[in-house]
Amino acid sequence: MNVITNHMPTAELQALDAAHHMHPFTANGELAEKGSRIITRATGVTLTDSDGNEILDAMAGLWCVNIGYGRDELADVAARQMRELPYYNTFFQTSHVPAIALAAKIAELAPGDLNHVFFAGSGSEANDTNIRMVRHYWALKGKPEKSIIISRKNAYHGSSVGSGSLGGMSAMHEQGGLPIPDIHHINQPHWWAEGGDTPEDDFGLACAQELEAAILELGEDRVAAFIAEPVQGAGGVIVPPATYWPEIQRICDKYEILLIADEVICGFGRTGNWFGSQTVGIRPDIMTIAKGLSSGYAPIGGSIVSDEVAAVIGSGEFNHGYTYSGHPVAAAVALENLRILEEEDVVGHVQNTAGPYLKEKWEALADHPLVGEARIVGMMGSIALTPNKETRAAFAADGGTVGYICRERCFANNLIMRHVGDRMIISPPLVITTDEIDVLIERARRSLDECYAILQEKDLLHSA
Ligand SMILES: *Cc1c(COP(=O)(O)O)cnc(C)c1O
Repeated sequence: MNVITNHMPTAELQALDAAHHMHPFTANGELAEKGSRIITRATGVTLTDSDGNEILDAMAGLWCVNIGYGRDELADVAARQMRELPYYNTFFQTSHVPAIALAAKIAELAPGDLNHVFFAGSGSEANDTNIRMVRHYWALKGKPEKSIIISRKNAYHGSSVGSGSLGGMSAMHEQGGLPIPDIHHINQPHWWAEGGDTPEDDFGLACAQELEAAILELGEDRVAAFIAEPVQGAGGVIVPPATYWPEIQRICDKYEILLIADEVICGFGRTGNWFGSQTVGIRPDIMTIAKGLSSGYAPIGGSIVSDEVAAVIGSGEFNHGYTYSGHPVAAAVALENLRILEEEDVVGHVQNTAGPYLKEKWEALADHPLVGEARIVGMMGSIALTPNKETRAAFAADGGTVGYICRERCFANNLIMRHVGDRMIISPPLVITTDEIDVLIERARRSLDECYAILQEKDLLHSA
């Protein structure tokens, strides 16, 4: 099985990488000096790097490898599809079997009347589709002035100009002239960091009511849609208070605002249901999908659209699409991924076996002196690092200093756990076994201990 081998020494690969490869979301000058870690192969939940280290990937790549690495079925399907029909477009009144079959399967899996799929190559592209689709929807209904999309600070919806504008990451808005007009951001429901002395449920309600206040302030006749992740991922796996989503749904219903659930991470089993919307109990008009749709084996995304929105959009030509919308190889791979998720009851594994097991172990990390809270929904979890649990204090050091130290300890202990500021996050492959969860927790705890020792040594255990 030695198909992909590390045929060059790590240092040579690193030098070429530094010379020619611009990494996303990376300070490339700094990385060039340090050298990138080169991943050569993977099976199940385990990556192998060019030095032969075996690393437990508790991030499933970038939240996407839901069925785990190394599934030959997907490789076989891709090869077969490339031979049969590697590419054809879906623009000019043509279609092909993989796109048809995948759209039908997604419609079957999606709740309610979400029966139509507009394909894209990624989550960012899908959210760009959504911006144009909801604005065009209201224009077709004779209300072109309904063009504002409300989103949330610290949301992540992608990195293109449109989707990066929907997102609420200030570091992204600072570069390249974002956001585009008519995007409005309200606060995120991040009780631990921003809730102060307010009880969590009251805080959740208050955050949701910011949507109502924004609609009233901007004018009901100006607001097209609200977009949010059921559980924020890249923002730090922020689990909203239980009161939040029911109130958001009430407000969207009351003011007839389209609700877009960005399911790029939450979709396809991550939260213990097929979709995060089911976990938090909402009825979106549009869902954004990507990542787990193909378990990352091929780049594909899309928008799942309700009967009503699809009917309005379909009343004329929608001047929008991507060369790779419904790409046959990516669609065939996604379809095979969905077959595996369904036939192997991976969602049930998250809901009944691995999820509850991981939840118990993960939440127990809250007894560690560095951990302020440990939250988890299905297979997405976070812990807040803090110098003072009682006051939920931030560190005096710049945000992310401590998280970075912890992440480096994780790397050294062969565990991929990411940091977002001073929050540590996980999102492992959904097929992770209970034995592998034990390894994950053992390595996480060891990394936290080592991080704690470094903070003591460097005198960094001070509150801001
Ligand atoms: C990753 C992500 C996106 C963007 O998807 P890409 O495929 O990277 O363009 C959009 N929304 C959410 C919630 C994501 O996590």
